[in-house]
Amino acid sequence: MLRVTELRLPLDHPEPALKQALLARLGIAPARLRGFSVFRRGHDARKKHAIQLVYTIDAEVEDEAGLLARDPRLSPTPDMRWQPVASAPPGFTERPLVIGAGPCGLMAALALARMGFRPIILDRGKVVRERTKDTWALWRKGVLTPESNVQFGEGGAGTFSDGKLYSQIKDRLHHGRHVLEEFVAAGAPEEILTLSKPHIGTFRLVHMVEQIRATIEGLGGEYRWSTRVTDLLVEQDDDGTRRVAGVETADGERIAARHVVLAVGHSARDTFAMLHARGVAMEAKPLSIGVRIEHPQGLIDRARFGPFAGNKTLGAADYKLVHHASNGRGVYSFCMCPGGTVVAAASEPGRLVTNGMSQYSRNERNANSAIVVGLTPADFGAEGPLAGIGFQRHWEERAFVEGGSDWRAPAQRVGDFLAGRPSTTLGDVLPSYRPGVRPADLTRCLPDYAVAAMREALPAFAQDIAGFAMEDAVMTGVETRTSSPVRIGRGVGFASLNTHGLYPAGEGAGYAGGILSAGVDGLRVADAVGCGLTGFELPA
Ligand code: FAD
Repeated sequence: MLRVTELRLPLDHPEPALKQALLARLGIAPARLRGFSVFRRGHDARKKHAIQLVYTIDAEVEDEAGLLARDPRLSPTPDMRWQPVASAPPGFTERPLVIGAGPCGLMAALALARMGFRPIILDRGKVVRERTKDTWALWRKGVLTPESNVQFGEGGAGTFSDGKLYSQIKDRLHHGRHVLEEFVAAGAPEEILTLSKPHIGTFRLVHMVEQIRATIEGLGGEYRWSTRVTDLLVEQDDDGTRRVAGVETADGERIAARHVVLAVGHSARDTFAMLHARGVAMEAKPLSIGVRIEHPQGLIDRARFGPFAGNKTLGAADYKLVHHASNGRGVYSFCMCPGGTVVAAASEPGRLVTNGMSQYSRNERNANSAIVVGLTPADFGAEGPLAGIGFQRHWEERAFVEGGSDWRAPAQRVGDFLAGRPSTTLGDVLPSYRPGVRPADLTRCLPDYAVAAMREALPAFAQDIAGFAMEDAVMTGVETRTSSPVRIGRGVGFASLNTHGLYPAGEGAGYAGGILSAGVDGLRVADAVGCGLTGFELPA
C-alpha cells in the first residue's frame, strides 16, 4: 500500500474527482489502481474564495515498488496496528493499579486489560451517569459536589467537553491511531479516523466511557468508584531505592501493588500535595491564566470561510490565535469550542474556573475559546513545587467573589474591558455560562500583566478575525486550568524519577494536554507497566 499526501481538490468536488486526482498524481492508468481509501481529510481555508479539501490517501496499486522509486513524494503506508509489548503469562495473579479513570487512565487500563493483567482502577468520582447529575447540579442549581464534577469521575476532565480528538504530539508508534480505534470500537463515529480535526461532543463521550468500562470489566479489570487515593505506600531498599508498595484510600483501606499508574489529571491538588509530602520528585510547571471569550459563531464562520460560511462539509469554523505582547507575555487562544457553551469547571468550594464544551452538532449560537496568558513559576509569588496551585487558587477565589459568591461567573464586554471600565450590563452576545454571570470588572480577577497583554492581543486578533474585538463580545472568567501546575518527573521506563513502580502519566503529571495525548500517554505507560510486571525489556 502507498500513502499519497497533499491531494488537493476544491470544496464540494464531485466524488469521482478524488479517484481521478489520485490517478493523475500517480500517473497510472485506472486498471493499475486496485483500490484506495481516505486516510485523512482536512481543509485549507487560507484563500477564502478557493477553499480546498486536502486528502491523504492509501492506495493499492500494481508495481508499488516502481512507483515508489519514481516519485519521492510517495511513501509506503506504515503499519499502524497496536502491538502490546507484553502479555500476562497463564495463571499470572499480580494486578497493577491505575489511579484515575480519565482518558489516560482508561487507555492504560484498557491496554493492560488487553495484555491480560486485570488492572484495578481507582477513581475518586462516580460512574458517568451519576457524575452527569452532579455536574449539572452545579450548572443548574449552583450546587458543587467536590468529588464528582467536571473534573472528577468516570471519563475524567474531558467528558463534558468539545471532545476534540487531535494533537500535535510526536507519535512514532502510532498510539494516537490506536486510541481513536478504541474510541470507535466504543461507539465514536468512524469519521474520527479520517478527519484531520475530529471531535465528538459530550453526549457521545458519556456513552463511550461506559462501553470502555464494559470492555475492561469483560477482560477481568475492576473499577472502584468514590475511592480517593489519599496516601502512597513507599518502601525503601537497603541501598535507599524507593519502591511503591501500594496506596491508601480515603476510607483507610490499603491496597498493595508494585506497579501504580498515576493518572490523576490537573485538578488533583490534594493528591499533588500528598505526593510531595511523600517525597515523590516533582516541580512547578509553567501555567496560563485568562478568560473564556464568546462571539457569534456566524462571525467566526464568515471570517474563516467567507462565502463558504455555513458549508456542511466545513462545519463550524474554529481558530487558533497567538500574540506576543510588548510586556513580553505570550497571549494565545486555547481549547476553542465552535458552536458550544462556556461551562463551570470548578472542583473546589469557593473557587471558580471556566472551560468550554459542545455537542457533536456544534450548533449553539456562540463560539468560545480561552484567551490566556503564559506564566512561569517566577510569577507564582511563592517557591516550591506546589506554588502554581496557590496561584491558581488565589485567582479562582477572586473570580468566585467577583461573580457574587453564588457560582455565577464575572463577565465583561470586550468593549468595556478594552476601555478600562467595569461592565454593568451585557450586550448582544449572550453569555452561555450556567448558572449565570454577573457583569463585572475582570481586571479584579487577573494579574495586571495579564490584563495588559490581553488588552493588546484582542485588537491584534481582530486583524486576523474581523470583529474579534467587537464591543459586545463577552469574556467570562477565570480560566486557570489549561494544564497541570506540576510536572511529576519520569525517568527510565516511564517510572517516577525517584520512586520505582510509580508511573506518573497524562495531563496531571505534565505529559499530556488534551484527550488524545492523554490517551496516548496511557498506552505508553501501559507498555512500561506490562514490561515491569513480566520482566520483559521495554523496547526503545
Ligand atoms: P483527567 O481526565 O483529569 O482524569 C483524572 C481522573 O483522576 C479523574 O477522573 C479524577 O476523578 C481522578 N482522580 C484524581 N485524583 C484522584 C485520587 N486522589 N484518587 C482517585 N482518583 C483520582 N481536551 C481535548 O483534547 N479536547 C477537548 O475538547 C477538551 N475539552 C475540555 C473541556 C473541559 C470542560 C475540560 C475540563 C477539559 C477539556 N479538555 C479537552 C482537556 C482534557 O479533558 C484533558 O486533557 C484530559 O481529560 C486529561 O486526561 P487525564 O486522564 O490525564 O486526566
